[in-house]
Amino acid sequence: MLTHPTFSIRNLLAMTLLALFLFAPFLAYISHQTVLEAIQSRGELRVATRQSPTTYFLEEGEPGGFEYELAKLYADHLGVKLKIISYNRLQEIYDSLRLNNTHLAAAGLTITPERQTRFEFGPSYMESKTQLIYRSGNKRPKGFDDLGEGRLEVMANSSHAELLATLTPEGVDWHVADGDLEVLDLISRVDEGELDYTLVDATEFTINRAFFPRVRPAFTITEPQPIAWMLKQQRDTSLQHSLSNFFADEEIQHAIEGLKERYFSRSQRLNLVDNLTFRRHMETRLPPLRDWFQQAAEETGISWQLLAAIGYQESHWNPRAVSPTGVRGVMMLTQTTARSLGLTKRTDPEQSIRGGARYFAGIHKRLPERLQEPDRTYFALAAYNVGRGHLEDARILTERAGKNPDSWEDVKAHLPLLTQAKWYKTVKHGFARGHEPVVYVRNIRRYRHQLMLESRLEAVQQQQSASGAAASRLPEALPNTL
Ligand code: GLU
Repeated sequence: MLTHPTFSIRNLLAMTLLALFLFAPFLAYISHQTVLEAIQSRGELRVATRQSPTTYFLEEGEPGGFEYELAKLYADHLGVKLKIISYNRLQEIYDSLRLNNTHLAAAGLTITPERQTRFEFGPSYMESKTQLIYRSGNKRPKGFDDLGEGRLEVMANSSHAELLATLTPEGVDWHVADGDLEVLDLISRVDEGELDYTLVDATEFTINRAFFPRVRPAFTITEPQPIAWMLKQQRDTSLQHSLSNFFADEEIQHAIEGLKERYFSRSQRLNLVDNLTFRRHMETRLPPLRDWFQQAAEETGISWQLLAAIGYQESHWNPRAVSPTGVRGVMMLTQTTARSLGLTKRTDPEQSIRGGARYFAGIHKRLPERLQEPDRTYFALAAYNVGRGHLEDARILTERAGKNPDSWEDVKAHLPLLTQAKWYKTVKHGFARGHEPVVYVRNIRRYRHQLMLESRLEAVQQQQSASGAAASRLPEALPNTL
């Protein structure tokens, strides 16, 4: 009997499939890598986060933020590259872990009972209380019973939403905010009087409080709760073990303390009174100047928020400002500088802003190649303020002290020495009011930060009104959103 040729092919196929089926577990076993091995062989740690001043942000195109720096430490510890993936919504962070798009989430996430049923957490590196905040001028609520008719919204899928779902006494009306709104957006809405209350992590609120001068903490809801990195729930515990070792390392603990100091300490907060004025001026003085800042940004490649922050530090956006030493206008240019830039009238805001921007861009460009962003911008600001020569002197003192002359953190610690004869006599350009550029750079960074926040908020609002999102801000049922 002739065998039909397709029959044997089919047979062969069936046998191959059967063999594959039988041996698959074995093959998987021999090629099996732990999560940690996979990260190492791929040479990349993928970290999910969200943008906020305490987590991750870009400053002049350079990444920064407590979580970013901590994640970078861990990637360096593993000897792999760090790939940050920033999401707008917490839900997207959770999905990315579940779908194995990222290895861990570093986003200021609180360890909560509900989350623990669905995810693993690494060792906790920080703690925070949760507070309810309100707008000053309104009556301060002392507990949930005092909230009355006021509207309380919290970030979707946050630990705050979980808290309210479990803790709130009956009768308190609360809502999950539109999915794209970050905690900072909510704080800002309370500040603006568009929302009555929200919940915040005290750590996050404290460092941003100065930017929202009308917001006050009303009462504390929880004892400090642990914050940690979140991981997918899986049998493989290699990443967990690696994290335990990393966080237990003494040097790492020391580095984390340094990061906390840098990102969360008291000195990082802007003076409240100053800030109130700044906010008012943003509404009254900035609008007529904003187009010039934007045009100057296009001409120079420096962000308009940075240029506007310089303008604020220089003149409080007053085109007619005059200093006792005769510098004038929004950007407070000297007569000589103005002439060299070809300006005819320093008090003309357009000329002052576009000229000042060109002048700053020139300083920025002429700095030594080796100065990298974001520090390069800080050095340029310091040079704009105190002059390049004095800045160079401070860099020399920094190097002599065995510190890094290319790091703004290090140089700013040495600039004030230029007020003391014992130091300035040893360098070329002599005495300088070295404290000034330090304050100057710090203030400008803060103003810029605030302007960027505002731009972000505007973008969210525009998006919302474009998509008619008002409707989507209606309360969603929590179990579906957590
Ligand atoms: N800790 C909050 C959470 O886990 C994040 C929001 C915040 O920073 O306030 O959802």
